[in-house]
Amino acid sequence: MHIRSEDTVEVITGDDRGTRARVLRIDKRSGKLLVEGVNRVYKHVRRSEKNRQGGRLSKEMPVQISNVLLVCKSCSAATRTGARLLGDGSKERFCKKCGAGLGQISPGKKRATKK
Ligand SMILES: [Zn+2]
Repeated sequence: MHIRSEDTVEVITGDDRGTRARVLRIDKRSGKLLVEGVNRVYKHVRRSEKNRQGGRLSKEMPVQISNVLLVCKSCSAATRTGARLLGDGSKERFCKKCGAGLGQISPGKKRATKK
C-alpha cells in the first residue's frame, strides 16, 4: 500500500476525476480508501424519530486505491510512486516524476544511530 491517511491524492476515474483531496481513512484489507468529499452518495431519509427533518444525507463512499494517484508534495503532480532503499536499510516512497522522497515506508533493519 503506497498511500497513507493524510496524503493528498488525485482521483483519476469516475465522476470525481481530477479532484484532489485528503485521504481520511484506509482499509488495507479491501484496498479501498475514503477520500474527503469524493464519491459522495446521497441517501434519502424519511422523517423519523432519529431524523426529524428527513431529506438527503450525504456520505462519502470508499474508492478503489487504483483509482487515485498520490500528489507529490514537491512537484505537485499526480504521480506514481516507487520505493527505494536508503543507506540505512530503510525504505522510502519517492515521486517517479521528480524523484523527491515522500516519506519513509519501512524502518531501517539496522538500529538507527540517532534516537
Ligand atoms: Zn514530484
